[in-house]
Amino acid sequence: MSAGAVHIVGAGIAGLSAAVRLVEAGRNVVVHEAASFAGGRCRSYLDPTLGVVIDNGNHLLLSGNHAALDYLGRIGALKTLHDPGAAVFDFADLASGERWRLDLSEGRIPWWLLDRKKRVPGTALGEYFAPLGVFMKGENATVGEAMDCGGPLYERLWRPLLTSALNTDPPESSAALAAALLRETLAAGGKACHPLFAAHGLANSFIDPALAFLAERGAPVRFGDRLRSIRLEDKRAVALEFDRTTQELGADDCLILSAPPWIAKDLLPGLVAPDEYRAILNAHFHVTPPARQPAILGVVNGQIEWLFAFPDRLSVTISNADRLIDRPREELAASIWREAAALTGLAPSLPPWQIVKEKRATFAATPAQNARRPDSRTQWANIALAGDWTQTGLPATIEGAVRSGYKAASIVIQSGADAPGRRGTSVSR
Ligand SMILES: Cc1cc2nc3c(=O)[nH]c(=O)nc-3n(C[C@H](O)[C@H](O)[C@H](O)COP(=O)(O)OP(=O)(O)OC[C@H]3O[C@@H](n4cnc5c(N)ncnc54)[C@H](O)[C@@H]3O)c2cc1C
Repeated sequence: MSAGAVHIVGAGIAGLSAAVRLVEAGRNVVVHEAASFAGGRCRSYLDPTLGVVIDNGNHLLLSGNHAALDYLGRIGALKTLHDPGAAVFDFADLASGERWRLDLSEGRIPWWLLDRKKRVPGTALGEYFAPLGVFMKGENATVGEAMDCGGPLYERLWRPLLTSALNTDPPESSAALAAALLRETLAAGGKACHPLFAAHGLANSFIDPALAFLAERGAPVRFGDRLRSIRLEDKRAVALEFDRTTQELGADDCLILSAPPWIAKDLLPGLVAPDEYRAILNAHFHVTPPARQPAILGVVNGQIEWLFAFPDRLSVTISNADRLIDRPREELAASIWREAAALTGLAPSLPPWQIVKEKRATFAATPAQNARRPDSRTQWANIALAGDWTQTGLPATIEGAVRSGYKAASIVIQSGADAPGRRGTSVSR
């Protein structure tokens, strides 16, 4: 790969973050997106039923997600995140009615654990060390093999935390992915665990500023431009066949394929990639939250896992939700609202609602699926891969998607720099 044009296929977070780095490095970039909008699995849209802009799903970042924050910094969107300024997490137990706040000390040493009042109610100190096992197991181990998946703290902290981050039932999840997650967040101290989310919607934080960044620098994003096939010759991509056009690739041109794995596998012969997925379900209720409602509430012993409060709506996230996907939407809305009303004290009558089911929200974070994740470098000289499903070492998250985009960008730039007689700019991280 070298200093020709870079065609990026897929304008999700991975493709956009690659585009941002490449444009910054002075490269000629064209982004091709099959849909009529950017963002992929991280998008906002005007919902016709509710008449308001909603996100396909609530996305939580932690302050230790340094690549995601770097990306937001580059596109000038850091200030769009809601940040409580501390590692505080409010929780409610729907069965017992108990409420508590987890308030982690900022430094690496978890002083808060020594204060019984700061621990989760009904838990013992020893339970906080249960996840140490995930750091000691090999690549093939599951969380269930590495730690005790039971007991009060598992139910009240480890299960909600791991389920939302891995989007897979923890006992069957990869211990290595859980370890990567914990290493960069809880083990790094409270300063890496501030809960952050897009206060005015995903597009406002992650997508629109990136599109503006690219537009200002003359990098086109072509919507409705679905890649149908890649013509491959002599270990190179030589042409990209889109729905309406064919893009011939010059000797110096290259491709970053940042489409989801099920598409990438069809486009690239022989590509091994994850092929098992888990759903995420979001329920949005068009209602004004009570004044004292926490911005994010973790919920145990209910269907609801996280309840987000926005000025014009309450929004519920349920991860690892395959069991709910075939249930009628009306029934889901009613049963989820019953819980939301109990948690907020709002009237039990169902407000205007929307249910968004994302069947293939993420790949299943099992050891077997993790082992199928390919490196960004491919056997094809001018093709790099990006996406949360590539081998980032992290679960399928925004952080992983950004890192994959940065990595693909640096492969492209580096190979340009390595080519004889060319000067390149390297992406530093
Ligand atoms: C409901 C939900 C909740 C989530 N919650 C969180 C969370 O709380 N925190 C977190 O960090 N992460 C969360 N995630 C995960 C996060 O959204 C993803 O990791 C991230 O968005 C993946 O980005 P990507 O660019 O790798 O892939 P995608 O977003 O899938 O982007 C791929 C793009 O390629 C395009 N495309 C596909 N085929 C073609 C083609 N042939 N030609 C051209 N373009 C094509 C698609 O339209 C899409 O825009 C959540 C995901 C979902 C669905």
